[in-house]
Amino acid sequence: MQFHLNGFQAGDPHIDAGQASERVAAATSQETNRVLPDEVDVLIVGCGPAGLTLAAQLSQFADISTAIIETKPGPLILGQADGIACRTMEMFEAFNFSERVLKEACWINEVTFWRPDPRNPSQISRQGRIRDTEEGLSEFPHVVLNQARVHDFYLETMRNAPGKLSPVYDTEITAINRSDSGAVTVDVRNSRSGASASVLAQYVVGCDGARSRVRQMMGRDLVGDSANQAWGVMDLLAVTDFPDIRFKCTIQSADNGNLMIIPREGGYLFRVYVELDKLAPNERIGSRELVKEDIIDAARRIFHPYTLDVKEVPWWSVYEVGQRICNRFDDIKERGEDRVKERVNERVSEPMQDPVDQAGQSQPRIFIAGDACHTHSPKAGQGMNFSMQDTFNLGWKLAHVIRALATPDLLHTYTQERQRAARELIDFDREWAAMFNQSASEENHHEDNFLKQGRYTAGVATCYQPSLITASRDHQMLAPGYPIGMRFHSAPVIRAADARPLHLGHAGKADGRWRLYAFADPAPPQSSSSLVRGLCDYLQHDAASPLKRFTPSDRDIDAVFD
Ligand code: FAD
Repeated sequence: MQFHLNGFQAGDPHIDAGQASERVAAATSQETNRVLPDEVDVLIVGCGPAGLTLAAQLSQFADISTAIIETKPGPLILGQADGIACRTMEMFEAFNFSERVLKEACWINEVTFWRPDPRNPSQISRQGRIRDTEEGLSEFPHVVLNQARVHDFYLETMRNAPGKLSPVYDTEITAINRSDSGAVTVDVRNSRSGASASVLAQYVVGCDGARSRVRQMMGRDLVGDSANQAWGVMDLLAVTDFPDIRFKCTIQSADNGNLMIIPREGGYLFRVYVELDKLAPNERIGSRELVKEDIIDAARRIFHPYTLDVKEVPWWSVYEVGQRICNRFDDIKERGEDRVKERVNERVSEPMQDPVDQAGQSQPRIFIAGDACHTHSPKAGQGMNFSMQDTFNLGWKLAHVIRALATPDLLHTYTQERQRAARELIDFDREWAAMFNQSASEENHHEDNFLKQGRYTAGVATCYQPSLITASRDHQMLAPGYPIGMRFHSAPVIRAADARPLHLGHAGKADGRWRLYAFADPAPPQSSSSLVRGLCDYLQHDAASPLKRFTPSDRDIDAVFD
């Protein structure tokens, strides 16, 4: 299918491009505004990638009541992030829409590197080309699709799930209060009418972006690099004689700065990221009054001697990013940490309650995820991916605790795992940004760094430390090639029961169940000498079996463990 040829149209490309308004109407029509309930198990604030991933996960459980609110009047139509890492595709597979993304997205298979031509440094020439993703890293490619379409897939998943969840738009959070019992009262206001209401929630998750009100109300700060970097980003339909316009590529010019090209879905659209000036401390990018022509002019200078005849700019933005992180992603106070500092809460002036529930245990009830707790440059394409992975981590844990399959202690592992992973991301991002900022005159080979960091940008390098849910490395030798603490790396298999070829990892769906993978010995499973048979007998009958201990007696045998 060809789309975005004669102008860009947002929305579902399967709806004829001639009916542009119908495409957008289709994206919004299903999203009839919901009424916010008075009480919920989980209240999610913000319909970005982090909030929608959590909503899609929690909507899988009909017995969990969830609400998701969003300040904006409806779903995102275009713009913002676009890179989807291999690991994120694996997650989309768990939500059952990876194949639709694969069809619609642009695949990034190779990256090319352009630098000043040694014979004539005022011009650029191609000086490197590498594979984007290391062979065997994942069964999925690295792809690019606009963030609005990713949102659409989540919204559809939520609507069709047992929980039948849709966002409540035009609604912003104004205050949060945690009671002695642990439950949280949230005040909200309709952004159009100004009408206010309150919701009682067992848990609140702030997925409300870099300027998160939830984070501010928790008294947490994003700490880090305050020297903000200005960025220009544009989605373009253009005519150019630059030969690599359908490749992801970096261009370093001798004197005119750097840019990155990202080819986009549909075969014609592409994105350019142009690094603009560093901002002075406390300077906001708005003060520069940059317009899209400034980005186009900067891009043209870097492209020289190639031409760039811009026909349409469907979306552009200038924005500032710093590398910043919160010290915790929940409302638990660490020893020595100040009680909640300045309250941005509009309703109450007294400090928020210490998070101690009736049992006297400090248990988190309010969380932040995504850009609300870490921000970084867009160069490594991690913003959307990392945000979704935060809430993919949190979603099943909340579901387990709410459904009484785990104690609330499990919720501590969210901050433990994701804060550390985010710190590593920020270190990585600093290195990556420094590499990108190096001028072309410095001896600098992006190719080597791309190769070295490939696992990281693919999202498969995260390794969680031993914890309540991650075993120590003591028995690692029993599962060589499956590092404890890392994601389960899929492999093609033939299913013995029906001879169907499939990917082992795709058996793992985002349904909140645990999975046991048994790699069989050669003996046929019918034989009494089969070790797998022995394992199955133990799982089914032994009083110590996790199936016996953790599956409620009135549930199916595979309700908790698949
Ligand atoms: P967000 O996507 O920011 O979502 C937060 C949501 O919460 C928003 O929908 C917001 O309206 C809502 N919200 C905020 N406050 C409230 C409130 N008080 N009550 C209710 N709802 C609220 N990344 C790239 O890699 N490339 C890019 O080119 C790029 N461009 C970007 C351009 C813009 C203008 C922005 C804002 C971000 C861009 N990013 C880009 C970053 C990327 O989009 C984010 O990293 C990613 O979206 C983070 O997801 P999130 O869900 O944490 O937050």
